[in-house]
Amino acid sequence: MPENEHAYGSDDAAYSPKNAEEAAEEPNEKLDRLTIESIFPYKYRQGQKNIIDKIYSVITQGKHLAMESGTGTGKTISAITPALVAALRSKKRIIYLTRTNSQQRQVILELRKLKEKLPEDILPENSILGIGLQGRKNLCPLIRKDPELARGSPEELSKICSDKKNIARRLLTGDDVTDDERPRACKYFGNVCVYDKSELMSWVSSKLPTPEDINEFCAKHELCAYEINKTLVKNALLVTAPYIYVFNKFIRQYLLDWMNCNIEDIYLIIDEAHNLPEFARELSSAELSIYSLGKARDEAIKFNNPEVHEGIFVSELCDHLQEILYMFQDSYLMDDDGFVPPSELEVELMSRFTITSKALEEMINELLAHGTAIQDARRKRGRLPRSYIHSIGAFLLFWHASDTERFTKLIRKGDNTKLEVYCLDPAVITAVCSEFGASVHMSGTLRPLDEYRDSTGLPTDTFCERFESPFPTGNLVKYYLPDVTTKYDQLAQNKLLIPKLQDYIVQLGNGTDKSTVIFFTSFGLMKRFVDDGVLNRIKRKTFQELQGMRQPELMELVNRFKQVKNSVLLAVIGGRISEGLDFPDEELEVALLVGIPYPKPTAKHRALEHYYEVKFGKGWEYAVHAPTTRKLLQSIGRLIRNENDRGFALILDSRTKRFQKDLDGLKESWDPVKDLKDFFKG
Ligand code: SF4
Repeated sequence: MPENEHAYGSDDAAYSPKNAEEAAEEPNEKLDRLTIESIFPYKYRQGQKNIIDKIYSVITQGKHLAMESGTGTGKTISAITPALVAALRSKKRIIYLTRTNSQQRQVILELRKLKEKLPEDILPENSILGIGLQGRKNLCPLIRKDPELARGSPEELSKICSDKKNIARRLLTGDDVTDDERPRACKYFGNVCVYDKSELMSWVSSKLPTPEDINEFCAKHELCAYEINKTLVKNALLVTAPYIYVFNKFIRQYLLDWMNCNIEDIYLIIDEAHNLPEFARELSSAELSIYSLGKARDEAIKFNNPEVHEGIFVSELCDHLQEILYMFQDSYLMDDDGFVPPSELEVELMSRFTITSKALEEMINELLAHGTAIQDARRKRGRLPRSYIHSIGAFLLFWHASDTERFTKLIRKGDNTKLEVYCLDPAVITAVCSEFGASVHMSGTLRPLDEYRDSTGLPTDTFCERFESPFPTGNLVKYYLPDVTTKYDQLAQNKLLIPKLQDYIVQLGNGTDKSTVIFFTSFGLMKRFVDDGVLNRIKRKTFQELQGMRQPELMELVNRFKQVKNSVLLAVIGGRISEGLDFPDEELEVALLVGIPYPKPTAKHRALEHYYEVKFGKGWEYAVHAPTTRKLLQSIGRLIRNENDRGFALILDSRTKRFQKDLDGLKESWDPVKDLKDFFKG
């Protein structure tokens, strides 16, 4: 977590509304003449002007926009340009949130284009048009070199960084530093403190480096890129950063401090916003596993097994918690998970130790205090400041404090049985979007937009708009098969269904030589097809996404699939291939979706459906239909990445008809091989 401090020795003037106001006191004709048309760096694509006008209108009204804009609409530049004009005129700032580092790079590249068109001196003195912010894991040379630190959470890394900087600072100012402490000083931070940043500032403001460029520059000069970025953020009109910088309230506060700006003076843009509700739910949930209880027990023994209440020691508490988890597993687990009655854990602990609820709260506080002491001891030895005892304390506190309306409590099975407090309401943290000066939430697959607005807690007067892709609609066809399904009870009743689906896949796989991805609704279903020999019947080179594949392995697999023209790739819907990768031109031309990716009817999912039913009267629509629609659209969306792309999508499931409204132009197919051949002949 970032620290609430300004870099030592950094006295550069910050870009702030106040500075901008002072600059604006002098008549600024350039600002008056600034228009979107005068700086937009490309020829407008079809429909792009409408998007830009809408965003400008919403931002200047101080409102919010949930917007789906199809492939090829140029979302990034369409959002940045009006936001930039509005921000310059109203002396505000912009935060542009992305999911991946490559999207940050794209933002900076687009800003460079805009910069070429911006009148000179339009920015206040000492300011930078834009900067990319990343986390310590990407930027800290010490973390990158140390495998233990590389496993640290943002909070743990923040603590260790803070310690290393503190020592470096004391070394610089000549304060006492012990021989034990000296090796822990961060030389990269020390270098930042004494570095003359004027040259860096002029390089950054003239060249607009990408985060990678800044990283390279810092590596060359042995500077901490994280600290340098913090310094630069102060002077940046636009900051592009990962979601966590806004949706973790502590990190957000640091970011606002670094920017020297109030939240209402910032326009917020969220890219790939369809990810936000689930990101927010996960960020607001917590788990306690059998594994971490074992680790906490080991930690307790190593640190003299501290007492947490009269006669109760940490190891004993861990043993009881493990027993309770197994007991809950036996009592409440239905399939993958099960509901745990809200206060059951507290009642069980109080009865086992014969203590009151007040004593239980004291016990939790003791766990936290012992955990903090262990974290400090480890930090002082230059180790990752991790304490499993602290994690247990934090989990029990969270469990105890979570309300039953917006959180559900679960036991989950697996090799590592877990208790989970799951957040049902993303608005617990996303509602902060309404506090920004304006916000734009955009994605290629955001429909149904009212569900997104309601789930994220945006105001009811939020604008919800859909903008179509400018690419020829005939370039993408969508079919579904009405005579097959992967519906669980029908598969159980009709043993011929799976062989029929497999025959279709084989015929389609052999019916074309176009690069094809077969998307399955689960790894289990994919395995069934592979085990039944489907791959041997397809006379083409095949590749297969495997469960738990690490990112480099996955990228290698995808690259090989792209290199071997006309091959077939097996992947899962909702996975990294279906949601995050681009396959332009002939890299992908056919997508076969085996089944509808409905969420599994787990206890967690039933709780979500119930929550939306109670809150909006739309349990099925919001908890089932909406996420399923987005997954279908994401998978099909891999086919068309530019205006020359052509794609054939076929969903092998009769239930697809329910999505007719969201899958524009969806057609029924009774002879899919013919339809496939006809499409590419045409
Ligand atoms: Fe890493 Fe040092 Fe920078 Fe902290 S100040 S992020 S420890 S290089």
